[in-house]
Amino acid sequence: MFERYTESARRTVFFARYEASNFGSPHIDTEHLLLGLLREDKALIRRVLLTADFDAVRQEVAGRIKPGPKSIPTSVDLPLSEHAKRALMYTAEEADRLNHRPIGTTHLLLGLMRDETFASAESLSHLGAHLESLRKRAEGFGEQSGIAKVRPPITYHRTVTGPEVIVIHGLKKSVEEVRRDVNNLRGCYWKRKPWKQRNVAMTKDRKKVSIDLSLAKKSSEFVLVKGGWKKDQCAICRWDLYESEDVSHGTGFTNGKDWICTECHARFIDDDFFSATYSDIT
Ligand SMILES: [Zn+2]
Repeated sequence: MFERYTESARRTVFFARYEASNFGSPHIDTEHLLLGLLREDKALIRRVLLTADFDAVRQEVAGRIKPGPKSIPTSVDLPLSEHAKRALMYTAEEADRLNHRPIGTTHLLLGLMRDETFASAESLSHLGAHLESLRKRAEGFGEQSGIAKVRPPITYHRTVTGPEVIVIHGLKKSVEEVRRDVNNLRGCYWKRKPWKQRNVAMTKDRKKVSIDLSLAKKSSEFVLVKGGWKKDQCAICRWDLYESEDVSHGTGFTNGKDWICTECHARFIDDDFFSATYSDIT
């Protein structure tokens, strides 16, 4: 069953078994698998839930577990619950859907979210994760989340003949362009905020827009349009940010002028991607 699992995914299942034993649970359930993931791949949890408050995440998940009367020795081989079995089946399906041969922690996370009646899915949805947006991003996560650890990383990062590329939100971008944008933006202070529509001043024919609202007061050519600014783009990857419940579109980081998406913030601003991960493999 676990032949295709990466080392990291196997360790996740191992930790899930350990969690179930500690809680005295008679089965390994989806909550235990999620706790296993929290032990094994904090970077993945941080990217998906956009939080580093792992204690709070752990509490949310553990709160759904009914502990047994006493812990069970880890030497006892606990069976998987029906939900956990189905989650692992979905995990393999998610990897297949992405044409990924090795099954990694990202696929496990997708599997744990697939059925909203899973306790793991309830926790993740409560913590702000969305199945569809994670699926979209899953390809981009590859190089950092154990999916690609069994692949040669250099072929993953280079096209055969073209320039070096990097995958953000599942789309390929030129590394040089991203590096240039990141260099210009790293010096700013970025504050995390939900994206909200803003008022703008617009010419009466509605053809031209300005964020200088005083124009609407000072000039008879302009009118104030409430909520007229409906969208920004990530200054690094051009991902759309707009009012949305979906964290990946609805929340970003701003320096008061520009916006960047949460994925770019986590990978390039928070983590020193270019001097750490990237230089290791080029
Ligand atoms: Zn971005």
